[in-house]
Amino acid sequence: MADAKPLFGKVALIGIGLIGSSMAHAIRRADLAGHISGYARRPETLARAREIGFADTLTGSIPEAVKDADLVVLATPVGSFGEIAAEMAPHLKTGAIVSDVGSVKSAVLRHFIPAHPIAGTEQSGPDAGFAELFDNRWCVLTPPPGTDKDALARLRTFWERCGSNVDVMEAKHHDLALAITSHVPHLIAYNIVGTADDLETVTEGEVIKYSAGGFRDFTRIAASDPTMWRDVFLNNREAVLEVLGRFSEDLSVLQRAIRWGDGDALFNLFTRTRAIRRGILDAGQDSAEPNFGRNRTKKDQ
Ligand code: NAP
Repeated sequence: MADAKPLFGKVALIGIGLIGSSMAHAIRRADLAGHISGYARRPETLARAREIGFADTLTGSIPEAVKDADLVVLATPVGSFGEIAAEMAPHLKTGAIVSDVGSVKSAVLRHFIPAHPIAGTEQSGPDAGFAELFDNRWCVLTPPPGTDKDALARLRTFWERCGSNVDVMEAKHHDLALAITSHVPHLIAYNIVGTADDLETVTEGEVIKYSAGGFRDFTRIAASDPTMWRDVFLNNREAVLEVLGRFSEDLSVLQRAIRWGDGDALFNLFTRTRAIRRGILDAGQDSAEPNFGRNRTKKDQ
């Protein structure tokens, strides 16, 4: 399948956690780069990545990582992008494509072609990555007006060959769509797990013992990386607050239906939401296996 010549001479991955290391594996799988360089802050991360061996060179220096790279991808928390961009800018090769994988788009600087792979797990770090992470998942590109068409086409090809389906949209639209599909659901999970933790009449033993009642799926989401998610909420404030406002109104309606014994209102909503779940399964975006197949580890795939 792979072309004789890789799509990029050198790809620099700034951040080699779950997403960055998964990209390295996917790049290797499809032979998309002649050379992969990886950057991380901490020596432990660099040492671990060296052991796993998913990059050709590893460094704690941003200028060194981006030197001669044809594609540079920021895969660190969104809050660190400004500082990293400033540090790498003078060292970029002329014509290099710069992109990212951040979960929020509007706040990103100009001269980027921002990208967001809608794929992830609650795991972090260089051990969490695997080549199949992006397979059959969507990757959204949000090119600012005036973006170079060839660069956009190459980045699209890059993500397609990492296994993704690619959508192109405006950053603002992306941030609203992701507020409802990802950001607010994470906030709800963080909140309900926090509420359970605060509820003194329910012991921790019961929370764990009866978690299959629904709580367990929330705890998986609420185990996601605190830094990454703090940055998501701080950088997508407007869209998250808009969606949360609607969410609270709808919750009040449910509260009222329960108070007044309006079974029809509850039944109608639950029927509507069940159909949405079927739509997600039909679109191949989740599995109907018991426990959604989530007992499988990446090694089983
Ligand atoms: P991760 O596993 O925690 O890895 C983060 C990487 O960034 C590590 O290599 C870390 O280096 C480095 N890093 C952290 N803070 C930094 C800072 N202040 N300056 C420089 N480097 C820093 O995170 P991830 O899940 O791969 O997420 C990375 C990006 O992908 C985020 O922008 C996130 O919004 C986006 N994203 C995540 C998901 C998901 O589900 N996880 C999905 C789509 C997009 P050290 O190890 O040396 O600290």
